[in-house]
Amino acid sequence: MFNLIIFGPPGAGKGTQAQKLAQQFNLYHFSSGEILRQEIKNNKLDKKINSYLNAGKLVPDKLIITLMREKIENQLGKVNFIFDGYPRTLKQAKMLDKIFNEKKIKPALVISLELEEEIALQRILARSKDSNRSDDVLKVIKKRLKIYKKTTAPLLKYYAQKNRLIKINGRPDINQVNEEILTKIKKRR
Ligand code: ADP
Repeated sequence: MFNLIIFGPPGAGKGTQAQKLAQQFNLYHFSSGEILRQEIKNNKLDKKINSYLNAGKLVPDKLIITLMREKIENQLGKVNFIFDGYPRTLKQAKMLDKIFNEKKIKPALVISLELEEEIALQRILARSKDSNRSDDVLKVIKKRLKIYKKTTAPLLKYYAQKNRLIKINGRPDINQVNEEILTKIKKRR
């Protein structure tokens, strides 16, 4: 059993790397942002939830934890996962550990893509032309980066203490970053 979490600020390339790793290791790609956008689009979630995304704020833990638990439990035991955008708070991290622990599944390794805030911001602005995401505008990107720093980045300490953290320089091009991830994963397995 082999599960991964891809971690890092918005713009670090989590989605891109997660897709590659999903193929390379046959993992089920779980993007909490994508799941939220889909559920809102299909009217499975209150449209009001959209206001969190549009403002760059985290949706409430209770909501995302319930949603993710349901999705994970549907697949648990059938597939291995790569989580992208989840967890983003300590509560979320603990919930994930709990689910895996209950099923005696080895806790996920965390791949942290490291990137300076300024570069992350420039990348999101550059992709915003094609992304069609209402939260890819300067003010909201800044808010997302701020929340990452304040609420999400502290999780790195939680994972480092548990010896589950793999740090990766997120600056080089897509393939180079992928190579570095593969090399470091191999050393851990
Ligand atoms: P990015 O990582 O580029 O910010 P995502 O698609 O992962 O983009 O997330 C978009 C938005 O979805 C977030 O700003 C937040 O509003 C919401 N969201 C996604 N994942 C979570 C989560 N784990 N907890 C709370 N809110 C989330």
